[in-house]
Amino acid sequence: MKASLRTLVRGLLLATTLLSLEAKTSETPLPDAKALDVLAEEYAHSSFPLLREILSIPNDANNPDDVEANVVWTESAFAQRGFDTQRIATAEAPLLLATRQHAAAEKTVLIYLQIDGQPVDPGRWFQASPYTPALKQRNATGDWEQIPWSAIENYDEEMRVFARSASDAKGPVAMFLASLDAMADMRMEPNFNIKVIMDYEEELGSPNLPKAVTDNRELLAADMLIIFDGPRHITNRPTLTFGARGIATITLTTYGPVVPQHSGHFGNYAPNPALRLAQLLASMKDSDGRVTIPGFYDGISIDDATKEILRAVPDNEEEIKDRLQLGSIDKVGKNYQEAIQYPSLNIRGMQSGWIDDKVRTIVPGWARAEIDVRLVLESDPERLIDLVKQHVSAQGFYVTDQMPDKAMRMAHAKVATFTYENSYQSFRTDFDSDVGRWLRSALQRAFEEDPIQIRMSGGSIPISPFVNTLGIPAVTVPTVNRDNNQHSPNENLRLGNYRDGIRTMLGILTEPL
Ligand SMILES: [Zn+2]
Repeated sequence: MKASLRTLVRGLLLATTLLSLEAKTSETPLPDAKALDVLAEEYAHSSFPLLREILSIPNDANNPDDVEANVVWTESAFAQRGFDTQRIATAEAPLLLATRQHAAAEKTVLIYLQIDGQPVDPGRWFQASPYTPALKQRNATGDWEQIPWSAIENYDEEMRVFARSASDAKGPVAMFLASLDAMADMRMEPNFNIKVIMDYEEELGSPNLPKAVTDNRELLAADMLIIFDGPRHITNRPTLTFGARGIATITLTTYGPVVPQHSGHFGNYAPNPALRLAQLLASMKDSDGRVTIPGFYDGISIDDATKEILRAVPDNEEEIKDRLQLGSIDKVGKNYQEAIQYPSLNIRGMQSGWIDDKVRTIVPGWARAEIDVRLVLESDPERLIDLVKQHVSAQGFYVTDQMPDKAMRMAHAKVATFTYENSYQSFRTDFDSDVGRWLRSALQRAFEEDPIQIRMSGGSIPISPFVNTLGIPAVTVPTVNRDNNQHSPNENLRLGNYRDGIRTMLGILTEPL
């Protein structure tokens, strides 16, 4: 957009806003899609240095120095924008709470932001460092080619910034700060108070968050929670996500001889732990991927109204199957959205003996499966874990949470070590809740279209401690491109999504609550 037009729209917007502040009428029109687009464009431009700066700070939560640098940066960024900031101490990384009160406010919105990123393997990034943001565009052969950072001045919406956390989730942090700046410059103020809670251990599963929320209930009190995180629906249209599955993990180990034995000398004699594990795992599911442990899906029913909600999501399942190269799919649900409304029992890794060039002719000493259980609201995590444990026991295994000693091995025909961790529960908010109606209205105004509404995403975010402890509803507002390589090398953020993210947040910040 030409600078002159931008100035004109900006002037008009400013005049309207000032008028509304002086007149204090409720009839003053809210900024429309066009005005928000212009503003988002301008503040995308002006915030690129900020985006670059925040992405240049290493943020591996395993490294306390990284955490501290990010806490200091965010403390300063929010203080500069008129927020009171306060560290909430935990056993490890602190949380940061930034609060700003507004004159016309009756309600308070809690906003969750994630600052840390997954660990990096710099050798697998096609740039100097995952913490040196690189601007790239596709060349004629479709490969991403780095271009000078200065080209961002005249950016094209298909260009991308590559860096750790570009999408997950410092990009949204930069969008939010840019939106706050736009609001301040336009002398617009939300009619609700804002509390921002920043998590520096999200990629570690937020181990200290539940206790911190419980211990700081009054401090965090709010009417609703919104989460600026995650990718939009694959169509890249405006999206609201009303829930997420929770997660628990299980480690399951079976045993053979105390140390690996020659398979010629002891094959047919020493029981093989890999086979035992395979049989055990196979007994948990049928060939269509459905868990056969009785009671695992108890309490979940997808009624007609819910089916309608799930069908309204414009998934292209042929495209999904094609992309993942799947000749068949599991039959837990009738379609993709339905499938993720159920808890899952997923083998995320298995190991026994050695393979490839390290293969050897042995009866291995042990076999291990790492399992994750994605949780839904209807299923009590302790009950699900216990069902799996009882099932292992019912297959003739003596179940222990220890590595077995000789006496234990000798006393039982089969021993399995079963340990688990219940990270956090699922959450799910009604489409017709106050927060749902409010966000829908904000996005409709910002984009002149109905957002895609996702009942529950398959992945997990640590939001249930807020929902359950504070007793408030939560909705996720995703902004980034889905093909962002999050958690992997060459994570990136599409600049069109960065701009639209600012537009989304401006829509929300200007929406009366
Ligand atoms: Zn992540």
